Amino acid sequence: MMIGNTVQEQLDNFMQGLKRRNQGQTEFHQAVYEVAATIIPYIYDKPIYQEAAILERLTEPDRIISFRVCWEDDQGNVRTNRGYRVQHCNAIGPYKGGIRFHHDLSLSVLKFLAFEQTLKNSLTGLPMGGAKGGADFNPKGKSDREVMRFCQAFMTELSRHIGPFTDVPAGDIGVGAREISYMFGQFKRIANEFTGVMTGKGLAFGGSLIRTEATGYGAVYMMEDMLKHHGHTLEGKTAVVSGSGNVAEYTVEKVTQLGGKVVTMSDSGGFIYDPDGINEEKLAFIKELKQVKRGRISEYAKEFEVEFHAKQGPWAVPCDLAFPCATQNELNGQDAETLIKNGCLAVSEGANMPTEQEGVKAFQKAKILFAPSKAANAGGVAVSGLEMTQNSMRLSWSREELDQRLRQIMMDIHSQCVEYGTENGEINYLKGANIGGFIKVADAILAYGII
Ligand code: GLU
Repeated sequence: MMIGNTVQEQLDNFMQGLKRRNQGQTEFHQAVYEVAATIIPYIYDKPIYQEAAILERLTEPDRIISFRVCWEDDQGNVRTNRGYRVQHCNAIGPYKGGIRFHHDLSLSVLKFLAFEQTLKNSLTGLPMGGAKGGADFNPKGKSDREVMRFCQAFMTELSRHIGPFTDVPAGDIGVGAREISYMFGQFKRIANEFTGVMTGKGLAFGGSLIRTEATGYGAVYMMEDMLKHHGHTLEGKTAVVSGSGNVAEYTVEKVTQLGGKVVTMSDSGGFIYDPDGINEEKLAFIKELKQVKRGRISEYAKEFEVEFHAKQGPWAVPCDLAFPCATQNELNGQDAETLIKNGCLAVSEGANMPTEQEGVKAFQKAKILFAPSKAANAGGVAVSGLEMTQNSMRLSWSREELDQRLRQIMMDIHSQCVEYGTENGEINYLKGANIGGFIKVADAILAYGII
């Protein structure tokens, strides 16, 4: 039961309790607040959800696993990292979500990601629960063999907790094709079975076409639908993109294919500004630079003789569209004000929770079209869901079939945002995505009784 007479009182009391139980976990507080601020008004007059304490139960992970990962570096030193898996909620399907390797990964970050994943996966319409995992391991500067030994050590423990009907991990920041392959290989060896226990696999061993492209393409499809719904098109628009990993690369590819022009990309060192646009050929350079050479984005500036701005995000570059595709909290209130001042029309979040609370408020106040990550970047996990389907059926769909399914899923997510987010003739995409994702999970939890 929510405590308090008004919506505001209920929200304040709920957040107070959550903060007390999860002290210092600021990213987790932030993600839950964003959801609670739209869900509490929605369930205010729905005693069935209130009495079953659905929101309280949905904000406490089913299970958190933390484990030691020991491995040997190339110099023969013994190294120790901490690995995690947050199994947040399996009400509507097996736990599903990525694995992140990042030097300052915290439990707070993983808990926010697993919570968001639960609602995001529900929005896709596919039967997937929510989870997230990872380690405070920094793959930067490590040799292939070091990464292999780390992934094998990590999977040796993780393998006890996952399975095709239990929990199906995938990639995220710091975990791409190379890491997935090492981890899947180790799982296969330990379990002595070949199953769809991970997604994002190589095409030779059960991977799905379009999975690599899916998150970026999906974020652009969401943008396309938002613009279309408001009488605009993507053609001829100038876009700023942050990041240069998988999500950013395929966002750039799809914007360009649809007739837009992307003028920025970034990494933790800074951003490049290419006023002529990052065309297909230049994007191929970035893919090679980031996926094969594992180099820095500043090398693009040297290669194509464009500006490089060290240690900043690209938000001050004038644009029509913005795609934050790097990481959480990369766009603050001031950045949002700058984008608004420069005439930005719409934002689609490719990364998970890239916009700080103040930024979200600013976008909403200025009535900028704002697709939050759980809607905008759901394309990745959606195609992961389709990879699981293909693995179960032991067959592979064509590129066209998968792209069509991805396109349809993004359209359906947009429709859910319209259905649940329309207020006074305008669409609050954040509210729509939260409620749309919540309902299915909440109804399943209700149906199971008190467990
Ligand atoms: N890490 C991605 C996400 O944030 C994909 C997860 C998956 O495919 O399971 O949604």
